[in-house]
Order: sequence, then structure tokens, then C-alpha cells
Amino acid sequence: MIARLNTAPTPSLVGMLLLLVVAAGLLSTTAVIAANPPSPASHWFETLKDNASDRELHRFLYAMPKGGDLHNHLTGAIHPEWFHELALAAEDQGYTYYAKTKINNCRFGSNEFGPNAYLLMFRTLQQSMVDALPECEQGEYTALKDLTAEQLQAWQNSQRLDKPHEGRSEFFEAHWARISAMVVNPYLIAEAIYYNMRSFGAEGMLYLETQVPVSGYIKPDGSAYDPLEVLEIFRSRLQQADAKATGVTVRFQLSILRFLPTAEDDLRRMYKFVAEHPEFVGVNAVGREDNDKGYPLRFLKTLRELRREYSGVRLSIHAGEVDEPNQHVKDTLLLGADRIGHGVNLITDPDTMVLMRHGPYMVEINLISNLLLEYISDYKDHPFPEYLRVGIPVALSTDDRGMWDSTLTDEFFVAVKEFDLSWSEIRELSNNSIAYSFVEQDQKQELLGKLNKRLDAFEKQFRPPLTARQGFGRLKKQPEYRGFLCRQYNLCAE
Ligand SMILES: [Zn+2]
Repeated sequence: MIARLNTAPTPSLVGMLLLLVVAAGLLSTTAVIAANPPSPASHWFETLKDNASDRELHRFLYAMPKGGDLHNHLTGAIHPEWFHELALAAEDQGYTYYAKTKINNCRFGSNEFGPNAYLLMFRTLQQSMVDALPECEQGEYTALKDLTAEQLQAWQNSQRLDKPHEGRSEFFEAHWARISAMVVNPYLIAEAIYYNMRSFGAEGMLYLETQVPVSGYIKPDGSAYDPLEVLEIFRSRLQQADAKATGVTVRFQLSILRFLPTAEDDLRRMYKFVAEHPEFVGVNAVGREDNDKGYPLRFLKTLRELRREYSGVRLSIHAGEVDEPNQHVKDTLLLGADRIGHGVNLITDPDTMVLMRHGPYMVEINLISNLLLEYISDYKDHPFPEYLRVGIPVALSTDDRGMWDSTLTDEFFVAVKEFDLSWSEIRELSNNSIAYSFVEQDQKQELLGKLNKRLDAFEKQFRPPLTARQGFGRLKKQPEYRGFLCRQYNLCAE
């Protein structure tokens, strides 16, 4: 691993940081030094990696200060045990939830490929939805609070991608259908934003840019909320002392489901909403890219029309999350995107790779997601190290961590284990996750300053004259252990 000390420099970030220093004069010089090519000063990290057990490396990465999570779907970032807690607590706002625990063979000939598959077990519904079912089907549902321990375990597992036979179809077709009735309760979602801030804050993260809808929410009686009412619920939750105490700054994105027939109208509506509300900083496009109705250039005309009317709306768009080679990343840059979600197949488009080297566009990398959704079958096939080491700006993010059962720390763990990241590469990834965020410029400078100050202080605990052992002795926080690393790297064996 020591041999890797002479890996490629990272001029994109160096250049950018220098620019930021000149522009704002806020960054410490250590931040710039840290982004330089690895120096003998980073020997401490090579030695640490050589000698630490996997559990120690994970503990180190958990305690390590981090930047932001720029690719996060809020409704996919709710761990099943959180869903359970939040759904029970929602009784206070009049919402009661039920889970499908048996099949009484009430219907035949239903569409098992549609969004309302009859045979889907452990689907959750709210009271008003159960009331609308025929009596036979009502008998298939059990109140969440009455689930047996075994049923609760099965209900939670049904929201995780935790079995070898599960993959893309389970995730896209079953998971979202199971949780769909819980994620249209704005109070539950507001609380879930706080849960994410709390757990991300505990792993040292400073900034969360999450995709969360403002429309489609319903009241306990099934009637609709106005998006502005939803916004008010989110705003007041973020104002509470416990949310502020997490130290995590939050901004939102809205996302369109790219393959829907209404996608252009959705885009117009969301673009306008983002332009008018400062907490919302960008628009995204999500959904299976292997559905041909969602190809990027479909939205070029609409975006050009919107840009004639509004300014200040940033685009981060999923692109290249497919198996086949194509130019979706290039087309998405033409749409005006500043960030690309996933970019797995960018590696198949050499012209666009050249264009993106040391460029202003960032790729949001989701290592755990790409493996579990089978866009790669092995980490040796992942293009992340190639992007990172030829100077295409990248950062690590969590995507739908509720379904993967993982944390941002776990993304760093995978990256260090599989690609032997150097300390300066780790710092570069965290810096990128703030520098390429859509947060306001003054906030960005502040967050970058804070991040690098914290990283400097953290690093000092492990560098000579101190030893890694002494550094580990100072780490008091118990990491959050989650299923993905337990299964994939046997991290929970002790
Ligand atoms: Zn995503």
C-alpha cells in the first residue's frame, strides 16, 4: 500500500480549492496542502490501513469528519426500524398503519406487475386505504402495533435488499410499493428528515442535500395536502432545537419520475417551486433509465423553455445508471446538469470522459447501490477509481440507504477496502461533496472551512509523533453497524 503513495495528483480539486481560497480567503492553508499529491506526511494512513483490522478501519472512518451526502432519496433513506417507530408515532397525528400479513385469496386475475400487486406481502396501508378495501381483503391486514415479533422482523426485512436472490426488480417493483402509503404522510417524512440528520451528524457529516417531494401527501382521511402546507411542516421541524443540534445543514431537491407521461408537466411544476423556495436548490430526474420513455434528451425542449423564465435552479440528474453503453451522461450535460447521479456507464463514452476531466461537473458515486442493484457484479468492475484518478470530480453518497441497510461511513469503507484510497483522496472526496453542492455560496465557504478544520484536527490524532494506537484510544464513539457491511465484509462477526 505504501507504493501507492505516488498515485496521480488531483489537480481538479487543487485548482478549485485554490480558487476558493483566493475568492473567499476562508480556507486554511492545510486544506490546500491536504489536496496536493500524497506526501510522506500521509505515511501514517498507509501504516494505519496496513495494521488496522476491518473493525478498526470502520471505527476510524465512522469517527472521521465528513462533508455532505449529495445523492440521497429521503424516502429511500429511512431504515425499516425507523419506519416502524415513525409509523407508530404517527398515531398522534391521526394516522394508523396496517401491514398485509396474509393472503385470503380474495381476488383472482389481478395485475401482479402493476403498482398494486395483490399478492405483495407486508405492504403497508393507512386506515383510510384499508377502509376502502372489500371486507375479505381487510382481513388480510394487521395493525402495525399488533405485529408479532416474527411478523415485525419479516416486515422490516421486506424493505431491505438483504437476500442474494433480490436485486433490481425487488427494489423497483416491490420495496417502493410496500412503503408507498407511509411516505405520503408529511409528518412522518419531516421526522425522517430529522432521523437522517441525527444519524448523519453522528457520523461526522455536515451537509445533506436530499430529494424529497412536496406533493402527493395525504391527510388521515385520504384528502390531499397543498405543497405549501407540506413545506411549512418541514420548515418547522427543521427549526426545532434537536434538529439544529445535529449540526447538519439541509437543502432539498425535487425529482421527476422520468418515464411518466406527465414528466414534462411535473418538471415545469417542480422547476417553478424550486425557483421560488430557497430551501430547494435543485431538480433531479429519477427512475429506471432502462425504460426508454425516460431518455435525457426528452427534457431538452422543456428545460430550455424553463430557463427562459427562471434563473438559479440547478440540475443534478441520474444518468448512466444502466447496463448498456450509451451517451446519456453527455446528453444530460447538454440538459444543463452540473452533477451526474451514478454515471456508471460514463466509462463507455471516451469523449465525454475527456470532457469531464478536471471539469466543473461532478459524478455522484453510489458504490453500495450499484452492487446491490447489479449495475456491477463485482467492485473490480466499478469505474469509480478510474474517474477519481484521471481527475473527474467525484464524491461518495448513499442513494437509498434504507434499503441497502448502510451509512455514509460504509461507502467510505467500501472505497478504502476495494480501491485502497489514500488520505488525500479521502479528503478530496469530502471536499468535493461540499464544493459541488448546490448550497448558497457563503454557506459553502463556511462548510468547507469547518470540514477542513475538523479533518486537520482529526488527522493530528493519528499522525506522528502520535501513533494509530493512541488515535484509536481517543475514539470514544461506537460506530453504527448495519447489515450491508455485516453481510459483505463479515464486519459484525465479533
Ligand atoms: Zn438515486
